[in-house]
Amino acid sequence: MKVTVHQSTLEIVQGDITQQEIEAIGNAANSALAGGGGVDGAIHRAGGPGIMAELKAKYKGCPTGSAVITGGGNLKAKYVIHAVGPRYSGSAKDAELLSSAYRKSLELCSQHKISSIAFPSISTGIYSYPLKEASGIALKTVMEYLKDHPEIKLVRFVLFDSNTYRVYEETLKEITKAQ
Ligand code: ADP
Repeated sequence: MKVTVHQSTLEIVQGDITQQEIEAIGNAANSALAGGGGVDGAIHRAGGPGIMAELKAKYKGCPTGSAVITGGGNLKAKYVIHAVGPRYSGSAKDAELLSSAYRKSLELCSQHKISSIAFPSISTGIYSYPLKEASGIALKTVMEYLKDHPEIKLVRFVLFDSNTYRVYEETLKEITKAQ
């Protein structure tokens, strides 16, 4: 499913983010930037050890709700943006931290003149963020950003499993209908 937000495209697809032909891919990293399971492990496996070497050389971790950038190693994407979403706790801060992880990632795109990025569904795997709520935060945060940032031409959510895709699709339909 694809929608236009001002001058940009917001797209959701089901697939594997490591295979995307796009300028940057987002990673659901942890604050130690230590690598891990889920999409993080898949990105480091597909991108090769150069990505971890660059993370270790440049950054001493990354606070929750923020993001850092590296090259894409062996991936088709030129960059990886490592965003740290919150581990779901049920506190009122979770939503702001999740939104901020996406927003800071998009700010890095603007700063580095990256006009297309693919995101996974940050925090909804190992970090247990409820999917429906997380999909609304993810999609609304991106749409808000695109309204003021036409330099970003394409944001694609790459959802790994059919249930995640289905929930993002349902949420995107609800948001676009309500506008
Ligand atoms: P978090 O710790 O932020 O919850 P996870 O990696 O556990 O991160 O999960 C985030 C989402 O990424 C989940 O929906 C998971 O199914 C998905 N995922 C796992 N591997 C991939 C992949 N190769 N491409 C896209 N999404 C993936």
